[in-house]
Amino acid sequence: MIREAGFSTRAIHEGATPDAHGALVPPLYLTSTFAFPNSLAGAARFAGKEDGFIYGRISNPTAMLLEARMASLEGAQAGLATASGMGAIASLMWTLLRPGDEIITDMTLYGCTFALFRRGLEPFGVTVKHVDLTDPVLLEQAISSRTKLVYFETPANPNMRIVDIAAIAAIAHRNEALVVVDNTFCTPALQRPIELGADLVVHSATKYLGGHGDLLAGIVVGSTDHISAIRLHGLKDMTGAVISPFDAFLVLRGLKTLELRMERHCASALRIAALLEAHEAVETVLYTGLPHSPFHALASRQMNGRHGGMIAFSLAGGAHAAHAFLDALKLVRIAVSLGDAETLAQHPASMTHSTYDAQERERHGISDGLVRLSIGLEDVDDIWADISQALAAAVEPDAQIRAAA
Ligand code: PLP
Repeated sequence: MIREAGFSTRAIHEGATPDAHGALVPPLYLTSTFAFPNSLAGAARFAGKEDGFIYGRISNPTAMLLEARMASLEGAQAGLATASGMGAIASLMWTLLRPGDEIITDMTLYGCTFALFRRGLEPFGVTVKHVDLTDPVLLEQAISSRTKLVYFETPANPNMRIVDIAAIAAIAHRNEALVVVDNTFCTPALQRPIELGADLVVHSATKYLGGHGDLLAGIVVGSTDHISAIRLHGLKDMTGAVISPFDAFLVLRGLKTLELRMERHCASALRIAALLEAHEAVETVLYTGLPHSPFHALASRQMNGRHGGMIAFSLAGGAHAAHAFLDALKLVRIAVSLGDAETLAQHPASMTHSTYDAQERERHGISDGLVRLSIGLEDVDDIWADISQALAAAVEPDAQIRAAA
């Protein structure tokens, strides 16, 4: 019996078939439309009676390879590639929800997902209920027959809270609700929500999957029926958020090194989190790899013993200190996005999560002093040298004021 191929083998080979020239890398199909061999074949393709490509807003061979590969890596039946993570989330929501439905979501969401729920679902008659999904009992209390979807990120952007996927899926399924997990921070190299009971998984492939900060893309994986409905309704007719074939090609390239890159991101983040925790200027470090994190045990189990490349921390001195820290960085770039080779730092309250107003940020656990780090692939000693000099510079003015007082 031939052994089932491992994760990296599938990330490199899954779905690739040799072309007529023996090209090692599958060709990039830069085409918007596809010519039919004859008019009856065209009609048969539109009627779903014959396989074959029609038009780039429905499918493309390069995107299709990415979709098959991501479905394999996530352990799902089928996949769909989109123009961005927001394109994936909006296409999914607008396919599966109707006026009168309810969605239950966690307290913490990426800022634009929060905005989509507020402005793209609520005004169209969908009720959005925020529940602290880190406590499954609260879902049990909140769920009703109107609940169609339970949606969350784990770890959550930006405060790294962890939701127990299997526990939430068990409650949701007893109530006939679907579970959708945003797996952007982990990627399937660390966490495979479908294997834990989720129905659909979404990604901003702009991040670790692409891995090089040079593209925007999104992914949805799930059952063949769900993916086909999202492709033919949400994507084709509603959002039109179609991935460019060139970006699909770049994500396929990124996937080949995904497991290797994630190992380095995780190892460096663990080291930086421990150093931050030991630093006198740092008030809190939110990283589940730290043994006293309230989410350590669950994250270790759910994320395959690793904790990802994202860290959030706060400084005594709040938003003022956070900005002083960011402005003192030299190697680390002040930028949103994450999962790139470059280490990036940003201030969620005024950047990625500024779609929440001040009261919402407080209610949803996004403090004004929080800094988010995406630990890159540089030498970890260089990353820490820059962070520690920026910490020293950030606390310096306060120290001077205290000394003068
Ligand atoms: N989900 C998460 C957790 C994110 O961090 C982001 C973007 O930062 C998105 C979704 C949206 O993805 P994109 O920027 O590719 O539209």
